[in-house]
Amino acid sequence: MIEGFTGQLTHAKHADFDAARMGWNAMIDRRPALIACCESVEDVSRAVRYAAEHGMTAVARGGGHSVSGASLPEDGLIIDLTLMNSIVVDPERQFAQVGGGALLGDLDVATQAHGLAVTAGVEPGTGAGGLTLGGGIGFLARKLGLTIDNLVSAQVVLADGSIIETSEEELPDLFWALRGGGGQFGIVTRFNFALHPVGPEVVVGQAWYPIEKAHEVMRFLRNTMQDASDDLGLVPAMLKVPPVEPFPAEFHGQHAIVMVGCHTGVAAQARAELQPCLELGDMIFGFVDTQPYVEFQKTFADASPKGGRYYWKSIFVDDLSDDLVDVLLEGIRTIPGEYTQIFMEALGGAVARIGVTNTAFSNRRARWNLGVSTGWVDPAMDEAAVKATRAIAEKLMQFSDGTVYLNYLDRDDVARTQAGFGPNWERLTAIKAKYDPDNVFGGPLGGAG
Ligand SMILES: Cc1cc2nc3c(=O)[nH]c(=O)nc-3n(C[C@H](O)[C@H](O)[C@H](O)COP(=O)(O)OP(=O)(O)OC[C@H]3O[C@@H](n4cnc5c(N)ncnc54)[C@H](O)[C@@H]3O)c2cc1C
Repeated sequence: MIEGFTGQLTHAKHADFDAARMGWNAMIDRRPALIACCESVEDVSRAVRYAAEHGMTAVARGGGHSVSGASLPEDGLIIDLTLMNSIVVDPERQFAQVGGGALLGDLDVATQAHGLAVTAGVEPGTGAGGLTLGGGIGFLARKLGLTIDNLVSAQVVLADGSIIETSEEELPDLFWALRGGGGQFGIVTRFNFALHPVGPEVVVGQAWYPIEKAHEVMRFLRNTMQDASDDLGLVPAMLKVPPVEPFPAEFHGQHAIVMVGCHTGVAAQARAELQPCLELGDMIFGFVDTQPYVEFQKTFADASPKGGRYYWKSIFVDDLSDDLVDVLLEGIRTIPGEYTQIFMEALGGAVARIGVTNTAFSNRRARWNLGVSTGWVDPAMDEAAVKATRAIAEKLMQFSDGTVYLNYLDRDDVARTQAGFGPNWERLTAIKAKYDPDNVFGGPLGGAG
């Protein structure tokens, strides 16, 4: 079907088509025309040419974790990179060559084997590809910057099937666009990252409080994060207490607010910065301890399992004001879903020290990236879950300047992408027109756009 293709092709007549097409979010139920599971960069090139010749939208699929279903195009071609997942670490040069389909969990394991790391997200099953191209926020971001800030160069298959290398020196306009602009410019078959010494043991902490203490916790965070060192990565979240030990039985299934932190500085300072999180009184459960960084990175591994039904809303905010916290409290109490959580990723530090127009990712100055992640299992809940999330999202917009993280945009949010890219939008669209004039790869949200 695709001349010279050596990987696996799956289409609607194959028995395993349904299993092969579905991504992480079961709410996205589109039927691609073809899934091309590539074995090599040449396979990717052949598949892209095929899509261009047949007028099909071609989208890469790495970890398949796009909430909007960006990697699942109706009638399009999925360029599946799952097999192109090799990770080669050069410990001397502190450098990693990472296949376009590698997963974050594998990236952490491979780099930590040498005591090195690059910023990665909190869910090990997420693809390094999608995460990086949207920016890449994780616990190391305040110290090391976004994942894109550590991208040195990339191998890319362009819309005409050509295979190129891009960096600050080679095709710099493309390299600029890849750092935050998503998968709309080409298929990245290899990412080359600079690595940094991290751990392997780091100081970590969790502090769980009853939801009634949310205002107090957020006020504490507001003050603490003003002066926090870049070594501190922190995510507060509102969610239900898991019905398992070590959580006390009387709190199982109750709403709570938790602070999860990771500190990569010297142990004494790490403990000094994390310990106060445990001292707000009436804590449900908490600890500060040392842990291998790879283990810590699995903290959220089961929080949002593949095959669940998800709907997300997200904004950047500068201040965790009392008024904002009121809306979040209303949200966590009214939005249904066993996997539902509202989280805030602390930014600042190294993220903010890079210019807004230096990369396509423009949201450098925000202090928090706030996500409402609604997750449930029963399809009968779809309407209620989406409706309740939208109602809270509308109330949240008053706290937003309109900017938003591409990687957290859901499928009905395509119109927000322009605002999301802010001052970089015009340059981004010009680069898109130059590298993909026939829109082979779809818009910023790929198959969802
Ligand atoms: C449970 C969960 C936790 C998350 N946590 C974080 C987090 O901590 N930090 C964070 O920053 N983000 C996080 N995200 C968001 C995540 O970064 C995005 O959803 C990302 O797009 C997923 O990448 P993927 O490769 O798994 O997804 P896919 O669905 O495979 O791809 C997503 C998009 O990227 C494109 N793409 C993927 N690989 C390539 C490639 N090699 N070349 C070109 N285009 C490509 C696809 O075409 C598609 O448009 C999380 C998402 C989930 C579901």
